[in-house]
Order: sequence, then structure tokens, then C-alpha cells
Amino acid sequence: EWVEFNHFFNSIIERFEFSKSQKVEFKRLLSTTDMFVEIDTDKMTQVIDNIISNALKYSPDGGDVRFGVTTSGTFIKVMVSDDGMGIPKANVNRIFERFYRADRARSRAMGGTGLGLAIAREMIVAHGGEIWAESEEGKGTTIFFTLPFEQQEDGEWD
Ligand code: ATP
Ligand code: MG
Repeated sequence: EWVEFNHFFNSIIERFEFSKSQKVEFKRLLSTTDMFVEIDTDKMTQVIDNIISNALKYSPDGGDVRFGVTTSGTFIKVMVSDDGMGIPKANVNRIFERFYRADRARSRAMGGTGLGLAIAREMIVAHGGEIWAESEEGKGTTIFFTLPFEQQEDGEWD
């Protein structure tokens, strides 16, 4: 299904904004230019839901969660950034492994299985994109992913 990504992303962000219980502020830097992506919307919703719930789950009250969409060549680049506890440098790339959790005791208390980001990586790769993380312990984490896009919905010429 072809969807305009900024619109699609924003509707997911809004759902979290209405339901979140934490005192976390959401900041968006989305584009008003159309960026059409051909995606499985249910699966992509699952991917973005997990990234946003991680940002909330591992963030303290009073932090911000920032959302951004930019383009680079024929790809959109999406970021979700938090002011949370972060991930030790040595383990940043391992968070996309199945069942990997950065801190066992802490993670057990938070609930979940450690599958969210492994599934996210599978989905993003299946859509022709990449996903990675940058993090600093005690400062926060940013998840990035890319997806191929078109400026017009395919088949629409004028
Ligand atoms: P699930 O998503 O299956 O409910 P989970 O959230 O623990 O469980 P993932 O979403 O795959 O699993 O994340 C894997 C691990 O990466 C987490 O347990 C956590 O240690 C770390 N992590 C992921 N996102 C963040 C974040 N925004 N800040 C800090 N740590 C994170
Ligand atoms: Mg998760």
C-alpha cells in the first residue's frame, strides 16, 4: 500500500501522545513535502509502535522524545530520539538481536520479551531499508531507519 510517510508517522505519534501517562514531551520535525512509501502498513505500525514504546519505557519523566523525517537521495531517514538511560556503547548494535536486553534485571522489571527490535529490523530490511541505533549511556538513545520513497504515489502522472 502506498502512503504518505509524514502523515502515517504523525497519526501513530498522535495515538501515543493521547495515551501516554508519563510527563514526556513530544517534539516533531516532520516535512510538509510528500514522501510516498510502499509499505505493509500493519507491519510498519508495529515497528514504529515498538520504537516509540521503547523510547517511553526507557525514558524518565521530564524528558523529551523527538521525531524527525528527512530525506537522503531516494531514501527517507526517520529518527526517534529520547533522553533516557541509554545503552552501553559495546551493546548498542546488539539490541536488534532476538531476546537481547541491555540490562536483564532492569528489563525484567519493565516487561517485554526483547523481540521488538529484532522484528523491527526484519520488517525494515524486508522493505528495503536499514535500521540502527546511536546511544550514550545516561544521556539517551536515537533509533534511525531508512525506507525507499517516491515523490509521487506510483502511477500518478500529471
Ligand atoms: P519487547 O519489545 O519485546 O516488549 P524489549 O522492549 O525489551 O521487549 P526490544 O524492543 O527488542 O525489546 O529492545 C531490546 C533492548 O534494547 C531493550 O530490552 C533495552 O535494553 C534496549 N533498548 C531499546 N530501546 C531503548 C531505548 N530507547 N533506550 C534504552 N534502551 C533501549
Ligand atoms: Mg520493545
